Amino acid sequence: MNIDRRKFVGRSVAGVAGMLAGSHLKGMVVPGRRKEEQEDDFSSGLQQYDLMKEVMKYRKIDAHAHIYWTKDSPETQLNYGRRLGIEKQVISRYLDVMPGTPEQFRKFNDLTIKAIKQYPGQLLGGFVLNPAYKQESLDEIKRCTDAGMIGPGELYYQVKINDPKYYPIIEKLIDLKMIIHSHAECQLGVGGYRMKYNGHKEPNTSIPEDFVDIAKRYPEGIFQFAHIGMGGDWEYECKMFRDYPNIYVDTSGSNNAENMIDFAVEHLGEDRLFFASDNSYYQGVGKILASNLTEAQKKKVFFDNYNNLLKKGGRGVD
Ligand SMILES: [Zn+2]
Repeated sequence: MNIDRRKFVGRSVAGVAGMLAGSHLKGMVVPGRRKEEQEDDFSSGLQQYDLMKEVMKYRKIDAHAHIYWTKDSPETQLNYGRRLGIEKQVISRYLDVMPGTPEQFRKFNDLTIKAIKQYPGQLLGGFVLNPAYKQESLDEIKRCTDAGMIGPGELYYQVKINDPKYYPIIEKLIDLKMIIHSHAECQLGVGGYRMKYNGHKEPNTSIPEDFVDIAKRYPEGIFQFAHIGMGGDWEYECKMFRDYPNIYVDTSGSNNAENMIDFAVEHLGEDRLFFASDNSYYQGVGKILASNLTEAQKKKVFFDNYNNLLKKGGRGVD
């Protein structure tokens, strides 16, 4: 294995960041290692590795998180974030109900509005809608933008992202220079993709091919493909998006295969990844730290890439 020992230990440790967050490495036993072995590491100079110092070195915007999805309150979520140096979380309450009526999406957006008003410095709001209700969705974009939201939160599986029903919505979001963020999956049985393997998913779930289709139709649109770490085929996703520079991926998800971040940068370049958690905060930070990216690349992924796009719409973070 072409990797030095110090790096190997460092990477293993970043991978269990969740267990260690808030503590310094020295004096703790890394899971899977005997105490004596670890003391060997310390005496050979590994005590220099201060995980939390590394974590806190980078400014961070979490480009994909949700509220009122788990039992955690917004306060609890903010605490997770603060401990990891996450300055802002882009939150939404995604529309995981069918059929996703205007009444339902307004109710969900009201929750997000309430939270961003309570924590204006730390939460950035994303709205949800359902393009099957065209006028109501356009009205909701206006209502939520007026309330201070920065763009769509994770749009969901009511309508595929490349369905013509989405065109007027996407055109409006392009006018407003917003990042168009949508849930998507890439698994057997999803969204018409080899449906003989029934994944018991909603048939209109967007898949990578749908993103490519809409990105080609609207090259001026900025598309955020959600959670490459969700458990889908991230290699397939990254390969598919390579030639479409207006598709960005967020790194969130609780499935964190080794090499995923490096692979994504190799195929998409260092400017097209957004750090995100999807509420898996420790894993979200750990997988970036555990990658082989340079410090400058990590800085871009954690903060600058997303912020540069926010700035295009006059919504940047200072
Ligand atoms: Zn999602």
